[in-house]
Amino acid sequence: MKQILVLHTGGTIAMKENPSTGSVSPDAKNPLTDAPIPLPENVHLITENIFNLPSPHITPEHMLKIKKRIQEAYQNGIDSVVITHGTDTLEETAYFLDLTIGNWLPIVLTGAMRSSNELGSDGLYNFVSAIRVAASPDAKDQGVLVVMNDEIHAARYVTKTHTTNVATFRTPSIGPIGMINKNNIIFLQKVLHSQYTDISSASGFIPILKAYAGMRGELLEGLAHLSLDGLVIEALGAGNLPPENIAPLQKLLDAQIPIVLVSRCFNGIAEAVYDYRGGGSELQKMGVIFSPNINSQKVRIKLLIANNLQLKKDELVDFMQQ
Ligand code: ASP
Repeated sequence: MKQILVLHTGGTIAMKENPSTGSVSPDAKNPLTDAPIPLPENVHLITENIFNLPSPHITPEHMLKIKKRIQEAYQNGIDSVVITHGTDTLEETAYFLDLTIGNWLPIVLTGAMRSSNELGSDGLYNFVSAIRVAASPDAKDQGVLVVMNDEIHAARYVTKTHTTNVATFRTPSIGPIGMINKNNIIFLQKVLHSQYTDISSASGFIPILKAYAGMRGELLEGLAHLSLDGLVIEALGAGNLPPENIAPLQKLLDAQIPIVLVSRCFNGIAEAVYDYRGGGSELQKMGVIFSPNINSQKVRIKLLIANNLQLKKDELVDFMQQ
């Protein structure tokens, strides 16, 4: 018998629509609790309502609590984990777990775009799909997975791309790593082994700043007055900034604040290509770290983890560039 731990954390999958106003809000009782769930053979669910939160209320401390609960359950012999979660920050929790729990067991996150009593509600379907994936022998060694709308995505690369469409989760550049069919779960790609590092705290003040045409230096100057533990910048194109930002950026670097740069483009990666004032080459020479393959919200999670590992400068650069 496969023992699957189900952790419900809240989100639309646990919400209901008010038929007279159309607004959606949390329900005291998780609607999945009484739902008829067609289980694959030889699967037993152990269900816990660890939180009942909309995912904009989820913090790194909540992620840490989920991580600790999974580690404890793993010591007690659990085979896989399914987590239901609001879709807004699902990718951040998924990536946090990807970095802090090794490839010991399949961990699958899922959610819903339509609440439990809405027409075409996708919650129960996604939940059953996630259980099927978590029970699949092929789900092991693929890192943390996100299952929605008949697709399997790697936590490291997946992102929410649409405010309401049920096909919201996408993986830019490489696509889903697997698919869910009526009778079969099929993995199409093997995920490269992710980094694994354990932490016992998740504190730090690490904002994300998005660059734009005409961005002047005031925002970076203002940030120098706050006690930052790090900064993530979504830069332009291949990794460039408007030139007025160079002087205040240097001040932050002089104050030993780690600054990690990604591109604001949906596809592709940031690299030191352009050699002009504010170009990627100058930023890299100044000591800005270029993150090769994850989006800004995930870089923020990674930098937060690095902050709690108290890495030395060169270790931090290596960690962020992997
Ligand atoms: N705002 C909701 C949340 O993230 C959306 C969802 O669950 O999909 O909790």
